[in-house]
Amino acid sequence: MTLETDVIVVGGGVAGLAAVVELSGGPARVLLIEGRDRLGGRILTDTSGDAAVDVGAEFIHGREPTLMEYLRKRGLAHETADATDYYFDGETLARTDEGGDDSPFEMLSQLSEDVPDQSFAAYAGKLSLDPGERSRLTGYVQGFNAADASVISIRALARQQHAEDAIDGGHSSRLVNGYADLVEALIEDCRTSDCGTNFQIVMGTAIEEIDWRMGRVQVAGRSANRDPFRAAARAVVVTVPLPMLSKLRFIPPIPLLAELPAALRMGPAVRLTLQMKEPWWEAQAPGMGFLFAGLGSGLGEAALGPAGPGFPVFWVNRRAPVPLITAWSGGPAALEFQGLSIDKLVHLATQNLARLFGLTAEAIASLVTRAYFHDWLGDPFSGGAYSYVAAGGLAVAERFARPVEDTVWFAGEATASEGHWGTVHGAFSSGIRAAREIREKLSSP
Ligand SMILES: Cc1cc2nc3c(=O)[nH]c(=O)nc-3n(C[C@H](O)[C@H](O)[C@H](O)COP(=O)(O)OP(=O)(O)OC[C@H]3O[C@@H](n4cnc5c(N)ncnc54)[C@H](O)[C@@H]3O)c2cc1C
Repeated sequence: MTLETDVIVVGGGVAGLAAVVELSGGPARVLLIEGRDRLGGRILTDTSGDAAVDVGAEFIHGREPTLMEYLRKRGLAHETADATDYYFDGETLARTDEGGDDSPFEMLSQLSEDVPDQSFAAYAGKLSLDPGERSRLTGYVQGFNAADASVISIRALARQQHAEDAIDGGHSSRLVNGYADLVEALIEDCRTSDCGTNFQIVMGTAIEEIDWRMGRVQVAGRSANRDPFRAAARAVVVTVPLPMLSKLRFIPPIPLLAELPAALRMGPAVRLTLQMKEPWWEAQAPGMGFLFAGLGSGLGEAALGPAGPGFPVFWVNRRAPVPLITAWSGGPAALEFQGLSIDKLVHLATQNLARLFGLTAEAIASLVTRAYFHDWLGDPFSGGAYSYVAAGGLAVAERFARPVEDTVWFAGEATASEGHWGTVHGAFSSGIRAAREIREKLSSP
């Protein structure tokens, strides 16, 4: 049996859900198909413990108007994440606002798209930076973008920096009960009002094939127990992450998709949150927000423990009802953690913290009451953390956000080519963008 509808949305992360909500109230029937047995995608808030802990996206970066307007409309409270940032100078901890040298980072704000495209590493190699500065800057670019410095495009970085500057990207906040608040509001909006009557959802069904011609698509997939599934519509919005997109069979093939792997990459990241009996860091780092462990000293990962890979960044969620500290590694360094058990990750994080605070790992480990982790790299529906543009890939990345013959739309963070790749607000806006274009298309004669 083939389910008939008007618009099919593949993937129920924030991009897919935003697309559905934007189509709500209109005449089009909408079918959302999600591979997992939950919605939200790379937003996942663990509420099984004493606090709502985001194991995927956590921060609202800046004040992007589309997302901000939705949060306001839905009354979703968010609180600033601003706090005192520290760095490790090789021996002790120091506040970044007291002696931290920001000059290499100013280079990022001054980047221009008017340069021949090349990787960040190639570009930085030509700047007069001392080895410590180069290492700090490279660590920052890799960690924040989950990217390989020898691959990420300098022109895309420039666009991203300017896009962030335009939305006050240096300011971060968090939803009070975690990012799940946003997902739940979107799901509620899908199920209520006009949307409810025109909206259907199929969960636990992974799409494998999209057969299309102008004005007509047929999707085929399978449920977790391998039952076949088919649906047909006038348009489709595909929001799956890049590694999943590469597995989708388009009939006929879409030529742009063959160019995509060279232009856009999925970056790895690992994050581990430790719940502690007490905020023991306060004695040495009062008011701590971020702690840049491998960046401030210029020692890079060498500053961290010899017994395994080190987490170069930690941060504290100061608003949580229990003490929470998160360890982060993004980019190629994150691959060193691949396949490690959660116990091993906890062991490494406590060792790193012991080195940074001059304490024993045993003392810190004895204060850990719970650990929160999700393996995004190994997750069959994400295959990594988020995407970035490879040198030379900007034009392809831009084309990826345009509809194919007014029938196949792509959305999701990887399509946020205005410079918001890899973010929740980029994914959210991309879903709205696709839905508006479809609405306009379907209403035109
Ligand atoms: C550890 C981590 C930390 C992050 N931190 C932040 C942060 O602090 N701030 C921020 O702004 N962003 C952050 N991000 C990025 C942010 O989570 C993503 O950019 C955003 O959630 C992506 O939304 P999306 O809808 O594009 O994709 P997804 O959320 O991945 O949604 C895609 C959906 O498609 C489904 N799917 C996949 N394949 C199929 C298929 N074949 N058939 C049907 N369904 C399928 C998936 O199950 C998923 O639900 C982080 C990401 C990670 C992993």
